[in-house]
Amino acid sequence: YQNFYEIMEANAKNDPKKTAIFMDDHKVSYVKLKHHIDTFARFLEFSSIKSGDRVAMIVGNSVEFIVSLFAITKIGAIAVPLNTFLKKEEFEYILNDCSAKMLVCSASFANETKNLLDTTKIEKIIWCDDYPHLDERNYSFSEIDASADRHGYGAKKPKLDDLACIVYTSGTTGKPKGAMLSYRNIFSNAISGADSFHITCKDRFIVFLPMFHSFTLSIMVLLPLFTCSSIVIVRSVFPFANVLKQTLLKRVTIFLGVPTLYNALLKAKIPWYFMWFNQVRIFISGSAPLSEQSLNDFNAKFKKATLLEGYGLSECSPAVCVNRLDHQKPLSVGLPLPSYEVKIVNEERVEVKTGEVGEIMVKGDCVMQGYLNHADATDETIINGWLLTGDLGKKDSDGFIYIVDRKKDLIISKGINIYPREIEEIIYKYEGIDAVAVIGIRDEQTKDEEVLAFIQLKEGMEIQESELRAYLKQHVANFKLPKHIYFVEELPKNATGKVLKRVLKENVKNGGI
Ligand code: ATP
Repeated sequence: YQNFYEIMEANAKNDPKKTAIFMDDHKVSYVKLKHHIDTFARFLEFSSIKSGDRVAMIVGNSVEFIVSLFAITKIGAIAVPLNTFLKKEEFEYILNDCSAKMLVCSASFANETKNLLDTTKIEKIIWCDDYPHLDERNYSFSEIDASADRHGYGAKKPKLDDLACIVYTSGTTGKPKGAMLSYRNIFSNAISGADSFHITCKDRFIVFLPMFHSFTLSIMVLLPLFTCSSIVIVRSVFPFANVLKQTLLKRVTIFLGVPTLYNALLKAKIPWYFMWFNQVRIFISGSAPLSEQSLNDFNAKFKKATLLEGYGLSECSPAVCVNRLDHQKPLSVGLPLPSYEVKIVNEERVEVKTGEVGEIMVKGDCVMQGYLNHADATDETIINGWLLTGDLGKKDSDGFIYIVDRKKDLIISKGINIYPREIEEIIYKYEGIDAVAVIGIRDEQTKDEEVLAFIQLKEGMEIQESELRAYLKQHVANFKLPKHIYFVEELPKNATGKVLKRVLKENVKNGGI
């Protein structure tokens, strides 16, 4: 296959009645889905969208998200799925950065997207659900259906090495950058994922995390549609009880979550019938570190379930490593996906010895084509085909990879490296902790970095700082002990529940703490 549409076409031909999507009380078969895609693709052609044009999407979890993604790419245009949690200025920044020509938008984001027709190069907005102010620049999906009998112009079919999507990094550590991903990049990732998890067309994937995020997009949306499996779409992770209900009712077999979600699952009062949870073949965790405590608690609570941790980044389409059903090690993010290579290097980019910590580099078909409009950043990131991830890790003698921390989060105090995650793991083990973030802040007088810990307690819990400090003293070397511990109501997190350490650091610098 050369592009996404060719696979959809084959599935619709081979198994037309098979349910591709379950959402609320309705189902969409593969043949119906293909019909919606064809209709929207024709509309895009009539709207003068050409091969290589960028069409942005600010779309919540929905059938329309999938239809748009496949239709945009069917005619060789490039899909830019945006983080729906962004604010107006951030949308503007990205839409201008990628010179988007058209926008597909859920009506629920109408406020945040006001005036984008004036402040960007967007020519038309296609509203996914009811939007009251339709005119010659604001269309609705239902209107498009009405013009279904028109014929398209026959756009050029995209090839394997053409760009399929531009995925913006989540901006955890700086301004978002657009990672340019080709069909080859995304196929290689989805196919390697399918292979690693032994996916068959009988599997059912539940999608409740935002579809725009690279992990969800590749592993939970594209992968199942490539393998002719089914997707159960849930609009939002809240209420979480609904996610659990849908998992049970729709007999889900593949469940992807992020660590904060697994923590919520562990806190949730699970009714007895959740014993049936063992129909879920695999629970996957990715996108942020899963603490040892969470993994142990999960295994104790769901004895028959398998929770596999994986690791990836938008720049790698995104999955790089994952634990397998038949090959896993707790606390590791697993082995590289088939055909990918991972090495750990020092500052001189020389491979370090087994077990030593260094920066993780990745080579393989998953590595992006580069950052849009950032040739310098691309050259600094991809060196002879190897991508520098910005993550610190180590490899054991069996080739399993362990994530130590992000390079940017490393704290250097008196010339010694302190890995925040190590301290966070210890704090997590203390009773009553919901979330924790350890950061380093430079003291302007001593010019050295100080360790600060931010703690969010579980609801209704109180802990004495002196007792926590006494516990830490027993488990952490003196030079790693936090100088200050702050108890906060809620840690700043992004759309996928990742703690935004950048925001914490800014708050400290601005005296907001
Ligand atoms: P930005 O690049 O803008 O700062 P981001 O790095 O959060 O944003 P993503 O591509 O969404 O962008 O996330 C990838 C990062 O998430 C990885 O580089 C790594 O730091 C982290 N990550 C992913 N999986 C894991 C994991 N299993 N354990 C620890 N960290 C992980």
